[in-house]
Amino acid sequence: APATVGQAVIPLVNSLQDIVARLDGDAAAGLELPQVAAIGGQSSGKSSVLEALVGRDFLPRGPNICTRRPLVLQLVRHSAPEEWGEFLHAPGRRFHDFEQIKREIQLETDKEAGGNKGVSEKQIRLKIFSPNVLDITLVDLPGITRVPVGDQPSDIESRIRAMIMQYIKHPSCVILAVSPANADLANSDALQLAKLADPDGLRTIGVITKLDIMDRGTDARNFLLGNVIPLKLGYVGVVNRSQEDINFNRSIKDALAFEEKFFMTLPAYHGVTHCCGVPQLAKKLNTILLKHITDMLPGLKSRINARLVAVAKEHAAYGDATESTAGQGVKLLNILRKYCEAFSSMVEGKNKVSTDE
Ligand code: GDP
Ligand code: MG
Repeated sequence: APATVGQAVIPLVNSLQDIVARLDGDAAAGLELPQVAAIGGQSSGKSSVLEALVGRDFLPRGPNICTRRPLVLQLVRHSAPEEWGEFLHAPGRRFHDFEQIKREIQLETDKEAGGNKGVSEKQIRLKIFSPNVLDITLVDLPGITRVPVGDQPSDIESRIRAMIMQYIKHPSCVILAVSPANADLANSDALQLAKLADPDGLRTIGVITKLDIMDRGTDARNFLLGNVIPLKLGYVGVVNRSQEDINFNRSIKDALAFEEKFFMTLPAYHGVTHCCGVPQLAKKLNTILLKHITDMLPGLKSRINARLVAVAKEHAAYGDATESTAGQGVKLLNILRKYCEAFSSMVEGKNKVSTDE
């Protein structure tokens, strides 16, 4: 089953990403790995969707600009019951309190981007260890805005667009194009940007949020079925918590129960359950991500080998100075290569099993 294959394979990718993140810019060039990025207009519900996928409250959310630095979020599934977060900028420190994670994100955001709505492209990297997540890496990005506020420069819109493109232009990035159901889908910033980065729609999933606050008498059935704007990988509709729910500290568990009831109650969504709800989105993501990783593996492997040859040559020129950057590069790349090989044989093994059947 794809779910178990994903669980076995994706932790390796996460380790790869950790190593790549530690390589200096030059060595890491060309080693981009699969990620899932949420994009869309400001307040379209990106952070809410990512939080619901993780099943925990920890992202700053709200009606203003909250996400002001890219947040790279690695979900690591483990069997122990404890859940905690760990930031790359504070190695070894386990955050068991998710409220504290939220505060740390806010502090780190202010540190780089200032306290007055400024935006920075410098990443925050956070790992969440939990028994309740699928093993995926998610990127929460600042939303697209038009009118500069606070300390934002006059060209804020083009800056944010450029920042988003930096992530979604990579053929290995899966795009969650988040659009609110209470606005016209044809005006969706998310779908427009996704189309630029992924014109054939091979790696874009449409996510329609706020189904609960659509105009009375309307529903999103035609959006979800792709009758309005077709999308190869399709759409998933979700109901996240409203600002009032957030203010009253309504739990994610309650929110998921509310969502399920919402889809059961409304006849418009009967018969389209495959594109309704956060659990369906999680399922869809894991399947797509796994296929994606399998497809890109041969290319990644040859790039690592090419880098290894280049760095080994440089290393040889230094002789035995293992503490040199080149020496460290060789070490890291060798580790990377081993991961890649372990990874290949695992994927090949799984493929063999499935063709034998
Ligand atoms: P982001 O800027 O795209 O990250 O959006 P947020 O996740 O911060 O959400 C913006 C606001 O919309 C918050 O006040 C959320 O509570 C609200 N919101 C998000 N999704 C939904 C939804 O499905 N239904 C309702 N009623 N409100 C939502
Ligand atoms: Mg956000």
